[in-house]
Amino acid sequence: MSKHPQGVIATYREFLPVTDKTPIVSLHEGRTPLIAARQLGKTFNPPIAVYLKCEGFNPTGSFKDRGMCLAISKALEKKARAVICASTGNTSASASAYGARAGLPVCVVIPEGEIAMGKLAQAIIHGAKVLQIKGNFDVALDMVKEIAANQSLEIVNSINPFRIEGQKTAAFEVCDVLGTMPTYHFLPVGNAGNITAYWKGYREYKDAKRISSLPKMMGFQAAGAAPIVIGRVVNNPETVASAIRIGNPASWKAAANAAAESSGTIDMVTDDEILDAYKMVAEQEGIFCEPASAASVAGLLKLARAGIFQANDAVVCTLTGHGLKDVDRAMAVASRPTTCVNAGDVAEAIRGWL
Ligand SMILES: *Cc1c(COP(=O)(O)O)cnc(C)c1O
Repeated sequence: MSKHPQGVIATYREFLPVTDKTPIVSLHEGRTPLIAARQLGKTFNPPIAVYLKCEGFNPTGSFKDRGMCLAISKALEKKARAVICASTGNTSASASAYGARAGLPVCVVIPEGEIAMGKLAQAIIHGAKVLQIKGNFDVALDMVKEIAANQSLEIVNSINPFRIEGQKTAAFEVCDVLGTMPTYHFLPVGNAGNITAYWKGYREYKDAKRISSLPKMMGFQAAGAAPIVIGRVVNNPETVASAIRIGNPASWKAAANAAAESSGTIDMVTDDEILDAYKMVAEQEGIFCEPASAASVAGLLKLARAGIFQANDAVVCTLTGHGLKDVDRAMAVASRPTTCVNAGDVAEAIRGWL
C-alpha cells in the first residue's frame, strides 16, 4: 500500500468487509472537506460551532461514491456480469463512473424528466444504459429489484449492504478531523441509507474507542416527501429537492432506529426552507450544494429557531451533493439575476452597486 492511502477502502480497510481477494475499484473518493460555517454558526443565540461535510467534493459530486466504491469492488469480486440501479440521479452518476472504471456494464433506471441534467449527463458520458420510465423513483426501484432477481444482475442501490458499509466512512472522517464526535449530525433523508450509514459508522467508532459518545442523528425529509415523519407511504412525493423525492424509503426502519437510539429526530422542512438554506450556504459560506443537500442546513435553522442548542454544541451538516449538478435550479432561484448592459455602460452600472 502507498504511504498515503487513497480512497475509502484503503483508508478504512479494517472497518470494511474486504479481503486480499477483493479487487479495489477506487476514484479516490472520500477525504472531503469539513468546513467551518462561520457565518451560519454566528447567527445563533448562543453561537455554536457548525461544520459542513462537503460531499459534493467526491469524484462524481456526491456521497454516493463512498458506497459505490465498495459495491462495485464487491460486484467485481463475485464476477457479476453487470450492475443495475434505480436512481434520482446521483446513484446513477456514481454507478456509471465506477462501473466504467471496473469495466462492468451498468444499467440505470430513472424517472423520466425528473433528473437534474448534470446527473443525466454523467450517466450518459460514462456509457451506462439509461432507461427513463414514466413513474417515480419508488416505481423504478421496485422494477429494478424484480429485474435483478430474474436476470441475476447486481443491485447497487443502498439496499445493497456494501453501499451502507462504504458510506459509513463519512462518519469516521468527521471524527478523525474534529478529533472528537459532534453533538448533533444533520442530514437530508431520501431513501434513508445515508443516515443509516452514518449511525453505523459512529457506533463502530465508539465500539473501537475512537470516540467516547454518540451524536444525535437529525434527519430531514422534504415536506412533500416525508413518509417517515407522517408515518405512511407517500404515493406521489413532490419537492424541488429531486434527490430526496422518495415516498417509500428502503431504509425506513433503520433511519427511524438511528433517530430513536441517538435521541435525535426525523423531521421535515418545506421547499421554501430548503431553497432559503441553499441560497444562504452559497451566499454566506461560499459553498454551492444541490437543493436536496440544503435540507440538512434547513433542518438546523428550523431547530435553532426552536432553541434546542447550547453554547458548547458542535453541529455537523452533511451537504450531500454538488450544486453544479443542477444549474437550472440555481439560475431559477438566485437572488441576483444577471443584468445585460452595453459595453460602454459597465462603469455606470457598477456605480452605486456596493
Ligand atoms: C441520495 C441523495 C440523498 C438522499 O440520501 P439517502 O441515503 O437516500 O437518504 C440526499 N442528497 C443527495 C444529493 C443525494 O444524492
